[in-house]
Amino acid sequence: MTQDELFKVLVAHCKEYGFIFPSSEIYDGLAAVYDYGQMGVELKNNIKQYWWNAMTRLNENIVGIDAGIFMHPKTWVASGHVAAFNDPLIDNKDSKKRYRADVLIEDYLAKIEEKMNKEVEKGRRKFGEAFDEAKFRETNPNILREKARYEEVHNRYVAAEKANDLAEYKQIILDCGIVCPISGTANWTDVRQFNLMFSTQFGSVGDEANTVYLRPETAQGIFVDYINVQKTGRMKIPFGIAQIGKAFRNEVVARQFIFRMREFEQMEMEFFLRPGTEMEWFAKWKENRMKWHVNLGMGAENYRFHDHEKLAHYANAATDIEFRFPFGFKELEGIHSRTDFDLGNHQQLSGRKLQYFDPETGESYVPYCVETSIGVDRMFLAVLSHSYKEEQLENGETRVVLCLPAPLAPVKAAVLPLVKKDGLPELAQEVMDLLKYDFNCQYEEKDSIGKRYRRQDAIGTPFCITVDHDSLQDRCVTVRDRDTMTQERVPITELRALIDSKVNLNNLLRKL
Ligand code: ATP
Repeated sequence: MTQDELFKVLVAHCKEYGFIFPSSEIYDGLAAVYDYGQMGVELKNNIKQYWWNAMTRLNENIVGIDAGIFMHPKTWVASGHVAAFNDPLIDNKDSKKRYRADVLIEDYLAKIEEKMNKEVEKGRRKFGEAFDEAKFRETNPNILREKARYEEVHNRYVAAEKANDLAEYKQIILDCGIVCPISGTANWTDVRQFNLMFSTQFGSVGDEANTVYLRPETAQGIFVDYINVQKTGRMKIPFGIAQIGKAFRNEVVARQFIFRMREFEQMEMEFFLRPGTEMEWFAKWKENRMKWHVNLGMGAENYRFHDHEKLAHYANAATDIEFRFPFGFKELEGIHSRTDFDLGNHQQLSGRKLQYFDPETGESYVPYCVETSIGVDRMFLAVLSHSYKEEQLENGETRVVLCLPAPLAPVKAAVLPLVKKDGLPELAQEVMDLLKYDFNCQYEEKDSIGKRYRRQDAIGTPFCITVDHDSLQDRCVTVRDRDTMTQERVPITELRALIDSKVNLNNLLRKL
């Protein structure tokens, strides 16, 4: 299956099994807004819990808040979003499709990189054991040609970004011969800026002064609450504030399922620290966050850091943690050293003192801050796309299975009476009652056991528990493992401990 096909299959699977539906689908949907169904909400909640507990329980100096989505409009002036939260957009006059000019150029660069990698793979196959990749990259004429092309375009792109030169963006697109994938033409409009914030009217009077924004990030709620939390929680620097919540961006191009949505959820943590120590903390949080990801067991090789060359207006260091999605390595999480930009601006605009008196140095200062920011929905897509497998079985059949990290699985165990009679449903119900306080379980009595196994595989249930006639006598049940498909006979009294050993989130947290 190509990566593209896998993505389509994944979207269909999400709908078929109640993970994700297009929003308001009976009205043909709303672009880039999605609903989480009965399975999706469980998986999403488990992801959030893994993050929340890792932040607020494992770190004594990190606390959580839940701020409002609406904030005072001045918030977004102070944060720079009113002036600069823009995307450069460009339209193709033939297809009438809109694109982000920066993304068109980045995709073009990614294609050159892909070409170079393919060339390397060719070399590797040709030279076998003796292959020296570094030397090959330095000497192969095809690679050298592509590299020169890459560097030329890349340098122009970085310079255009720095200078905010929209005309140069267009010129790069024209010079590179980038065409619209729909119309196939290079009949482009000029590039212009577009602010991504949604606005609405607050209260009943419809004048300008009542315009409020739906927050485009959760971070600002943390900054404006900084002083309240610091004082009421008697927090000592360094300390962090974590928040999970909805954010809204009127994204120009939103065609990648839940990768880029107009309404999405973020998990953000702002870590406040003494100025001058930010690089040390930036490095610590990079390491800490990568560990959190790799700890899920989805393969360290599927993550990489991408350090920013062009820093956002508020940052003095920034990196992305990228994940290998079905459409390539893309940003999953951002880690930024934001200096005192946010608190400093809020202090200025609000007239309130947002300083910290440091008892160790005897000084007062506006704290610096390192931010970790990850999208819940992107994380959901990462987990799901990595877990989806189509397996060929020995009996010639295929099965679709979600090999989800067990603590994240929506349903932890399915309880299945072999038949719908002879007292088996009653005993199965007893097993449900035993387990339901600790785990999200599903009771299923319809269809053959084989079909029920398949349905549970498709939603990633780690354990299927079958109650059969022998169970009535020996009070044992058959437990089938999702990944190995092996079955073992287990006393009902031991079920809780067995399931817990594999699905308890704390086991994951203990490894951090
Ligand atoms: P991108 O470059 O992909 O637009 P960004 O750099 O604007 O992302 P940040 O502002 O750093 O993203 O947001 C932090 C995180 O929030 C991202 O790493 C991503 O996981 C998530 N995120 C941002 N925008 C969206 C969106 N439109 N839909 C879903 N998740 C998003």
